[in-house]
Amino acid sequence: MLEAISELKERAIAELSQIKDLEKLEAIRVKYLGKKGELTQILRGMGKLSPEERPRVGQAANRAREELEAALQVARRHLLEAEKERRLKEESLDVTLPGRPLPRGYRHPLSRVLAELKDIFVGLGFAVAEGPEVETDYYNFTALNLPPEHPARDMQDSFYITPNVLLRTHTSPVQVRVMEAMRPHLPIRIIAPGKVYRRDDDATHSPMFHQVEGLLVDRRVTFGDLKGILMAFLRQFFGSGVGVRFRPSYFPFTEPSAEVDISCVMCRGRGCRVCKQSGWLEILGSGMVHPAVLEMAGYDPEEVSGFAFGLGVERLAMLKYGIDDLRLFFENDLRFLSQF
Ligand SMILES: [Zn+2]
Repeated sequence: MLEAISELKERAIAELSQIKDLEKLEAIRVKYLGKKGELTQILRGMGKLSPEERPRVGQAANRAREELEAALQVARRHLLEAEKERRLKEESLDVTLPGRPLPRGYRHPLSRVLAELKDIFVGLGFAVAEGPEVETDYYNFTALNLPPEHPARDMQDSFYITPNVLLRTHTSPVQVRVMEAMRPHLPIRIIAPGKVYRRDDDATHSPMFHQVEGLLVDRRVTFGDLKGILMAFLRQFFGSGVGVRFRPSYFPFTEPSAEVDISCVMCRGRGCRVCKQSGWLEILGSGMVHPAVLEMAGYDPEEVSGFAFGLGVERLAMLKYGIDDLRLFFENDLRFLSQF
């Protein structure tokens, strides 16, 4: 029996040394190690052996199988290498052929709009500030006049990391961080662009989106200053013919507060599906910084005043480029992205 095993092994290895392709290799594997292979048959027939013979034969058969498997692996590697070698030779390079053009990259429409926003506001005298995306409850809510239990917190359901740490729901916390860092220096004149997070997901909402926050704090800042800056910005961004209107609104961190609309860029105010036939599009929120917010940041609301505004970058980009589904921004489909 032991001789039969060693004869079988040598025969298999001899056959292996002759082969030229992977098909033949597989045939040899099946012939010896397959379900009905010769070595498999020997192992299966062990039951008929005497108890003294069994361990020795078993051991030899198992060792033969291991050796065969290793030999098969080596042979496969050699075959693959030879194949690669052959292909490399075949596909030698003709350096006189014309080159292939490299695909040209494009800036993402959101990056383009963000860059344009920064340009406009830097031109209006604003500096660009940044803040953390993982924010504490205090900066995201409390310091913005949204104490615990404030009902307006419900409008901004977010992703919590601990009960007191969350992904920021707006860029407004940067207002507070900048005021704390600058105090008592005046004026403060910043925009804070960045990512924000909310638990929303549909054609006009994404769980991650971009905002730009604006803040100006100084002595004798009035609502007229707010209107002047925002109108200058909107006319630069959408064109000088755009209509702008301010509607009274409510935000916990500004008082008074105003929602700002522009005349519909799709129908020029005549009424269409995008503006829901009203001729106007809601574009940003704004207001005079609430005295409580100034006070919490360490400024005396009797001496200084300021205004703040916040706008959604995706919304501006959708209106500017006539995009009707916000999810297109994040699907990374080149057919969409290469249009900009
Ligand atoms: Zn319209």
